[in-house]
Amino acid sequence: MHSSFSHNFPTIEAPDAIHRHLSGSKDVDSLSADEMVSYQTESLTAIVRRAYDKSPFYRAKMEQAGVGPREVQRLDDLRKLPFLTKDELRGKPWQLLACDKRDISLVQVSTGTTGGKEIYMMYTRRDHLLPDLALRYSKLFAVGPGDVCLNALPYEMSAAGLAFHKTFMDGQHATVLPVGKGGAYSTPAKTITVMEDLRPNVVATSPSWAIVLAEEAAQRGFDPKSLHLKKMWLTGEGCSPAFRKRVENAWGTTANFFYGSLECGMLGIECDVHDGYHVPQAHAIVEFVDPVTGAPVLAGEIGEIVVTALLRYDSPLIRFRTGDLGLLEEAPCTCGTMLPRFRMRGRAVDQVRAEGRSVSPLHLEDALMQISEVGNWFEFVVPRSGDGRVKIRCELAEGVQPSSSLIEAIVAKMRAATGLSFDLELEDHMPRPTSKATRVVHA
Ligand SMILES: [Zn+2]
Repeated sequence: MHSSFSHNFPTIEAPDAIHRHLSGSKDVDSLSADEMVSYQTESLTAIVRRAYDKSPFYRAKMEQAGVGPREVQRLDDLRKLPFLTKDELRGKPWQLLACDKRDISLVQVSTGTTGGKEIYMMYTRRDHLLPDLALRYSKLFAVGPGDVCLNALPYEMSAAGLAFHKTFMDGQHATVLPVGKGGAYSTPAKTITVMEDLRPNVVATSPSWAIVLAEEAAQRGFDPKSLHLKKMWLTGEGCSPAFRKRVENAWGTTANFFYGSLECGMLGIECDVHDGYHVPQAHAIVEFVDPVTGAPVLAGEIGEIVVTALLRYDSPLIRFRTGDLGLLEEAPCTCGTMLPRFRMRGRAVDQVRAEGRSVSPLHLEDALMQISEVGNWFEFVVPRSGDGRVKIRCELAEGVQPSSSLIEAIVAKMRAATGLSFDLELEDHMPRPTSKATRVVHA
């Protein structure tokens, strides 16, 4: 019996670097720094060698840069290799392949929120399963058998839903409830029904959807706090500390951010300290470079985040420029995890201009969401000229009565927090997002 099924359950072949350094029950977040360097070095050299040997695209890039696999022996040698940009991937589905097309089992496509032609990422069965089957981060991602995980992230035209699904189910051996987020059958009402019936104790979703679900629950007389969640993970949208606090209050649990992307997969996991993202070092090498010169920046200086995937052998991702800005934090985290930590500084393209100044929408959101009279739904109407003032359009919190003195008080608080002047327009009901929340509109 056993052998007759074996073709249906092929084992995946783990690369040598994993065999040698991460096999057994070792947890990635308790490896010593030396062990991590050995593992990363061995993975990197194997991936660069494979990219050169099997991918005409990478071979041409390396030859043009005058570098080959022999020149990459240590982690520092990574910087000899050329960068990979989004533009090299747009509209070119098979660009990164270092294997036969027929070995690809999964293709994911970009959500298209950043504009331009689609980016596709291809996975062989091994590349798809390796990140979860081979590795655990049990301090940072403490989920296991017996946990019931509500996965309210999009499964369609997005990599997020399936990625968390696989991590919960295959990686952590927990129970997963694939309710999705706004798909054909995925209404907030149905999701609340599933929650009431199955009582999950872990939730993964986006910040704005967490509030959409909490509001739906309240309308039904169901208190999400009664679930006594042990953890919530939020991903897929920028989120200010003050909006996160609102999510935590509504759900009665700690909500940690998770940073990842279609191209790179998992890139940063927040611990409960909420003071930066820990780098999942078994998955990726993260560099910070000057966005203009491409030279590495010093620890503590803001640079563009550049990623090399360490578990992607058949469609390698080497020195990919994410367009996101961040900085490495040298001080160890109080959570006790040894994995290094970085802070995000958003994307340069997301900054808006008002009154002749450049300002981060997340900074505006944070200030607004600290004002308890303001409801959970808002948008900033930013002048196209860049000189005018921002108009805030928002709901008031439930039970708060509008008045001109309240409007003046909100505007004064916003000015004190940001140094900007504002107009304010109160709305009875702002539309709820069905996709990514839109916080900024230009007028
Ligand atoms: Zn930490």
